[in-house]
Amino acid sequence: MSVLVIVECDKGEVKKSSLEVATYGALLAAQLGTTATAVAVGEASEANLAQLGEQGITKVLYDAEPRLKDFVNNAYTKLIAGAAQQESAQVIVLANSNIGAAVGSRLSVRLQASLATNVVELPRTEGGQFVVKRGAFSGKAFSDVVLSGERKIIAVKKNALEAKHEAGRTAEVVAFAAQLTDADFADAPTQVVLQDQAGGVLLPEASLVVSGGRGMKGPENWGLIEDLAKALGAATACSKPVSDVDWRPHHEHVGQTGITVSPNLYIACGISGAIQHLAGVNSSKVIVVINKDPEAPFFKAADYGIVGDVFDVLPKLTAAVKALA
Ligand SMILES: Cc1cc2nc3c(=O)[nH]c(=O)nc-3n(C[C@H](O)[C@H](O)[C@H](O)COP(=O)(O)OP(=O)(O)OC[C@H]3O[C@@H](n4cnc5c(N)ncnc54)[C@H](O)[C@@H]3O)c2cc1C
Repeated sequence: MSVLVIVECDKGEVKKSSLEVATYGALLAAQLGTTATAVAVGEASEANLAQLGEQGITKVLYDAEPRLKDFVNNAYTKLIAGAAQQESAQVIVLANSNIGAAVGSRLSVRLQASLATNVVELPRTEGGQFVVKRGAFSGKAFSDVVLSGERKIIAVKKNALEAKHEAGRTAEVVAFAAQLTDADFADAPTQVVLQDQAGGVLLPEASLVVSGGRGMKGPENWGLIEDLAKALGAATACSKPVSDVDWRPHHEHVGQTGITVSPNLYIACGISGAIQHLAGVNSSKVIVVINKDPEAPFFKAADYGIVGDVFDVLPKLTAAVKALA
């Protein structure tokens, strides 16, 4: 019996959210008196996979089939289900990411497992029941969920816990052949186009984001957002109305109907903080809000707030960041 952790990789690197998931899986395994094994998906490097030992993973299964480099739902699900069977995994832990959400639901059907998404804490046992706490109503509330199935799948919310790094510990990387057939790749994308953000930082994985709303008044003023983003090495984002009127491209729109981001720092400039916007940004570690209206709802969700005019504050903030460099 073991805990199986799904580790997403991109261009050889283990994604930040997967380092968090690996830490979660190792802590859970210790709680259950077992070990945490990982299975890697995406384009991985064996050296980086071995480093998952720093998060407490003992073994990493890796199928080097080249067609697994990009996300293919059927193939990923079959690979992970095979690893779960081989390791007799009782609990499967993955990130509440786009890939995790898509694979998690398929896995729960295939393995007849109970699934909880958006989980924010380690499980606890209450009256013999396995209880997990999860975010609900776009982050406005929490709910406790009992996972009653023999097998359980936990999708951990990004930034729910800090990834630990215990230097010097390595995991054993073991080849794993998932016996995939051409049929498993029938839904493979024929072309994957990654839309580069300003500064080349991809929004869903960015650890710093500078975002603008209607308070920026027009596309001609976006240089202020881009200057701050460039100084910080951040990705740029926007509210929905901004992309609706084509001030910015749609792939920058964050929120309930756009992209979900979970950066370490989200700077909101001239954005009111409507619930639909917050739904996409409320797992950010630190939120800074710049708004001239002290009653703007976003201030309630902010860690730091600047009541002021973006056209006054942004150039000063950018100059201050540049002075630190
Ligand atoms: C079904 C549904 C789904 C939606 N999905 C999304 C979504 O995914 N993402 C999203 O963002 N929205 C979404 N919306 C829209 C959402 O409800 C809000 O209308 C939208 O987020 C508001 O965008 P905004 O804050 O940029 O603009 P506004 O609400 O117009 O706010 C502009 C803010 O800028 C401030 N401001 C103005 N001038 C300045 C200045 N010079 N300096 C500083 N501050 C200034 C104002 O005080 C105000 O707070 C959705 C709505 C619906 C109904």
